[in-house]
Amino acid sequence: MSKADQEQPTCTFGALLTALIFFFLAFQTNAQERCATVPYTKQLQQRNIVREDPARFEEWLQRRMSERRIRMDAQRRQATTYRVPVVVHVIHNGEPVGTGSNISDEQILSQIAVLNRDFQRLNADASNTPAAFLPVAGSLDIEFVMAKQTPEGFPTNGIVRVQGTRTEWTLNDNYELKSLSYWPAEDYLNIWVTTLASSYVGFAQFPVSDLPGLENSSTNRLTDGIVIHYDVFGSVEDGDFDLDPQYNRGRTTTHEMGHFFGLRHIWGDDEAQSDACSGTDYVDDTPNQSFSTNGCPTGTRVTCGTENMYMNFLDYTNDACMNLFTVGQVERMTTVLENSPRRASLLTSHALLDPEPVADNLGIKNIISPSPAECNASVTPVIELQNNGTNAVTSTRIRLVVDGVPVETTDFSIDIDPQETTTVSFSPQSISSGANHFLFEILLTNGVSDARANDNVREIEVIVPELIDVPFSEPFATIPPGWSINNPDGQVTWQLASAPSASPTNTAMKLNFYEYEDGRGELDLLTSPVFDLSDVPVAYISFDVAHAQFRGSTDRLRIYVLTNCDDDLFNGTVVYDKSGSALATVPSSNAPFIPSGSGDWRTEIIDLSPWLGETSVQLVFAGTNDWGNNLYIDNISVVTTADEDLALRDVMRPAPVLCENTVVPQLMIQNTGTVTITSFNINMTV
Ligand SMILES: [Zn+2]
Repeated sequence: MSKADQEQPTCTFGALLTALIFFFLAFQTNAQERCATVPYTKQLQQRNIVREDPARFEEWLQRRMSERRIRMDAQRRQATTYRVPVVVHVIHNGEPVGTGSNISDEQILSQIAVLNRDFQRLNADASNTPAAFLPVAGSLDIEFVMAKQTPEGFPTNGIVRVQGTRTEWTLNDNYELKSLSYWPAEDYLNIWVTTLASSYVGFAQFPVSDLPGLENSSTNRLTDGIVIHYDVFGSVEDGDFDLDPQYNRGRTTTHEMGHFFGLRHIWGDDEAQSDACSGTDYVDDTPNQSFSTNGCPTGTRVTCGTENMYMNFLDYTNDACMNLFTVGQVERMTTVLENSPRRASLLTSHALLDPEPVADNLGIKNIISPSPAECNASVTPVIELQNNGTNAVTSTRIRLVVDGVPVETTDFSIDIDPQETTTVSFSPQSISSGANHFLFEILLTNGVSDARANDNVREIEVIVPELIDVPFSEPFATIPPGWSINNPDGQVTWQLASAPSASPTNTAMKLNFYEYEDGRGELDLLTSPVFDLSDVPVAYISFDVAHAQFRGSTDRLRIYVLTNCDDDLFNGTVVYDKSGSALATVPSSNAPFIPSGSGDWRTEIIDLSPWLGETSVQLVFAGTNDWGNNLYIDNISVVTTADEDLALRDVMRPAPVLCENTVVPQLMIQNTGTVTITSFNINMTV
């Protein structure tokens, strides 16, 4: 979809990361669309943006598929059942289990049963596949299995229940939602079941590829998986669940799972093109089709000169009216399963196996100290240990290695029962500015070799941030040393860009939300050096901002204040939070926004007095993407002197030509300083 066609609500559709949104039209009998998925278009690519190239991903897939065909012919198709471990995170609203969004275990298992039937073509309604399509009906020998052990190796039923921090979720909350509960995506297929805001019922993240040229694709393992609205998850075929009447047989999840393994919509996502038959799903045996199909049609439908396969799982027909994948789709999914990171690794996950209890098995659960960022020249290392075995653990020997050099090996006396935790501390270690590497390793547990090695080592890279004297003012002529950019999804992020203000050659920090089609809700952080407010009488942030909306977009800028080099935003304080029209400094624009002069900028001033006395303060400028329009910030200053500055802007009265005999003089005065002005004196001479 081109930017010009962008509508709300919508979703992103990239080669690698996609968010596939189903319009939630449960009670509309004439639903026009089930999913607002949008493809890249030639128009977007004509902007000469360096970003994901779907065609190259397809080339890679096609090449791998033909390689695989040759290999499989040679091997005469050895039977392999792909087994994929699933964890279902139920992000509920505090209801009892089995009520509302806190769906029952039985409902969850009914969805897993649907996946296994649909992918293996064991679905009862496979008999509804028209005769014309039977020759291409495919089955994938895959089994979805609820995870049998947690990341720590404890038994689990593969279901995690967490009360959400909000009552409903949008795509923009993607990161926050998934951070509530997540198991490593290399070993687990994460499915989050929750309450999605009313316009859609599911979305998935496409598989990533290691093909050269895809450097701009999302690398965010923390968001990999599928999100499904709770009342379309599960099937009425397997129980009396309170499901949406249109989407009550678990096919939303079948459809999204197809995306998770690399499938595209059967009509080729070309509805925004002038020729709706020009797109493709890159699968040979699915007929060309112009648009998505809704509802539950019968009989033959012809578009693009071919009979449409509207009962394919990658179309949008009602759950009861879809019934097949094709051989070509199965081949494509197989290629992804065997080659794509975080897909292939699922097939050998320990989560597929029953945990094998071992006697003396201590694990390092967390490194409590040092943190990824530290202010001080010395830290006292502290780690959290967990007993992952069946014996109580009374002693352990642990080695600490700093920058490759063993600095301490200690025998600790502890006393923890199975599954319990404790902490142990080491001697203070000095650290230097820049990067420092800490590695902890369990050498002995209860005086013997630890029974399982995989949880015995933890390491951390510790950064000591640079310091900056106050006051300072950063004009961003370059990206200055000491400022850091954090780009979790590896896509669009803060960059230096031309941004005319009073000077036409001015540069500023820019977030290119206009072209940030993938990854709505993604955060991009610009973090300041550390500064000291322990010995100043006042402190303020001053910065300039420029932003235009794109239609009703809600791109967002927040400023966090962090202390003590704690780089966890959740521990910070939000001192500025504007989005949409409140953030905008100019009228909404459908073109990529570039400020044209000082009139397009606004100066913001924020009081830092709550942090007076703190020795280590940092600012984080956090942009949140809504695929709207560009955001610029510039001239970030920390001011430590009270600036009392009043400006006389205009004489409103008297007017230059006056007819009355008396006049009440009126002036326009602007506070251009950094502190509140409560009184002032003005001298008037007539
Ligand atoms: Zn879809």
